[in-house]
Amino acid sequence: MPPPWTPPPTPPAFAPTHDPLTPARDITHPHFQPGDQVVVIKGVASAELWGDAMRVVAPSWHTPTDENGWRLRDATGGAQTYVTAHPRYLVHLSRRCPDCLIHLRAMEDHLLPKHASHDAVIDCGWYTTTALNQLVHITDARSGR
Ligand SMILES: [Zn+2]
Repeated sequence: MPPPWTPPPTPPAFAPTHDPLTPARDITHPHFQPGDQVVVIKGVASAELWGDAMRVVAPSWHTPTDENGWRLRDATGGAQTYVTAHPRYLVHLSRRCPDCLIHLRAMEDHLLPKHASHDAVIDCGWYTTTALNQLVHITDARSGR
């Protein structure tokens, strides 16, 4: 089972970490549907992955990549309750999904050894949110769009 996706109790420590997996992920837009519970993985906390749990709301254009994305609702997002994300940023929580579990395991294998010695909450620094509430992975931001 995936770890529980609760917000970290303390502000995360910023520790930029290379993420070769998310940009290379092959996941289609229709893999997700409105109502799905998903998580955007942000880093590591106490030897588990952590991230922001959200609900898929509706299809929405993801301008940073010029591709189809999904509008998401983050119940704890405050001013950024609604963001638009690319499908490859999302991992399913609402049902056992082999594709998403494989990605989750790969992220664990890649990240947990790197931060195993830390007890703190680590933010790997992958995601920013634009003024138009577009969630953008650092790799997509660098592509210059
Ligand atoms: Zn899935």
